[in-house]
Amino acid sequence: MTIADVQAAINSGSSSCVTIVDRYLKEIAKQSHLNTFLEVFEVDAKVQAKEIDQKMQNGSAGKLAGCVIAIKDNICYKDHRVSASSKILEGFESLYSSTVVDHLLKEDAIIIGRLNCDEFAMGSSNENSAFGNVLNPINNENVPGGSSGGAAAAVKAGLCHAALGTDTGGSIRQPASLCDVVGFKPTYGRVSRHGIIAYASSFDQVGPITTSVEDTALIMEVIAGKDGWDSTASSREVPKYSKLLESAGTSRKIGYLTDCLEATGLDTEIKEGLMGQIKSLKDAGHQVEPVGFPYLEYLVPAYYVLTTAEASSNLARYDGIHYGYRSGHNDSLDTTYKASRTEGFGTEVKRRIMLGTFVLSAGYFDAYYSKAQKVRRIIQDETTKILNQYEFILLPTTPRTAPAIGENVNDPIAMYLEDIFTVQANLAGLPAISLPLGKHSNGLPFGIQLIGNKFEEAALLSFSKEIYQN
Ligand code: GLN
Repeated sequence: MTIADVQAAINSGSSSCVTIVDRYLKEIAKQSHLNTFLEVFEVDAKVQAKEIDQKMQNGSAGKLAGCVIAIKDNICYKDHRVSASSKILEGFESLYSSTVVDHLLKEDAIIIGRLNCDEFAMGSSNENSAFGNVLNPINNENVPGGSSGGAAAAVKAGLCHAALGTDTGGSIRQPASLCDVVGFKPTYGRVSRHGIIAYASSFDQVGPITTSVEDTALIMEVIAGKDGWDSTASSREVPKYSKLLESAGTSRKIGYLTDCLEATGLDTEIKEGLMGQIKSLKDAGHQVEPVGFPYLEYLVPAYYVLTTAEASSNLARYDGIHYGYRSGHNDSLDTTYKASRTEGFGTEVKRRIMLGTFVLSAGYFDAYYSKAQKVRRIIQDETTKILNQYEFILLPTTPRTAPAIGENVNDPIAMYLEDIFTVQANLAGLPAISLPLGKHSNGLPFGIQLIGNKFEEAALLSFSKEIYQN
């Protein structure tokens, strides 16, 4: 069901927000073993449901009425707890709402809870959460992906209608691919980052995880737009994405990256799936051509140098004084800082703070940080060149299906390489979507990815709808 279907059911009297919320609450309790929700906003959701049922009756309900949504635990919601799945934010309550939450509430979405994720959105498997890993609903032995693992798993398991995640290097698209749902990362600057717990500010974007392109378009229409609180949020008009989805009959020019298809780590069945998709696009009259992009091996290193540098600066504010957790070893300012950070942060977050501090340090700045900036520029320019010729770039979302729980935990490099196909869009600031594509012989799903031109969300979504009908 899409949001429009839910609204039609409510309008016809066969359903109501109150019954829908009750159903989700029961489902969340029933599937609590998945560990998707860190907190359920039961009381608030029920109050909202009643109010919105009334509004539906008197015709004053917003665009997202009937949509029960959950938010990743790095998205602030006034007077609600938020922790970025970290012990260091223990007991912290948001003093204000993020702009995206304000937009959701204004259009009458019901926010049902906050979702487990990797600590500070750092990870590709949700195993870096201080509150335990999330199970993939399709096979509980596997990870759901990350860092928005709770979000993708909750949507797939039917614990909420949709979710908001954040994507710095693939954290919406990768778990969406591993959990068989739709994940959308907007153009950098399309959606405000105000009230999002920052990981790497020049990469972070909020976006929806849903089961349909229609819902993605409608939620994007609501959350996108300029914002006085975030100077990187674009003031461009937000198109009515949900009304611009009909594009059948338009012949598109699509480039697929041969370097991705030939990549050593790519699973053969995923490759076959992609080739099959290319063939059916050609059969449908689209112009689909191979394109070279010989920079694949630079993507992950550039991404990790730059994002850890930004993270080391962003996470300096968690010092045991201003927010959340304070160690008992607090006899001086110095020991308070040190002990609170040592005890409050998990291993991966510490690794990244140290790596980021290192690449920014006086002796190594030129060799790492500024070099990675140059690499980023080359990647942006080369990707733009492709997109000057082709409307979309087609590539896999992930090199393989969901790893087993524990498989990568002791091998950070293997974990980082899971992001090989997703970080290009973040380095270049481009919109990208992961759509469910197929099922592997191991029983697990995998997705396909499309990257579009800057601020061309409408075209990307309408083409996505053409190739993916849920
Ligand atoms: N897996 C990537 C990382 O660990 C992406 C994270 C993200 O997009 N938040 O950094």
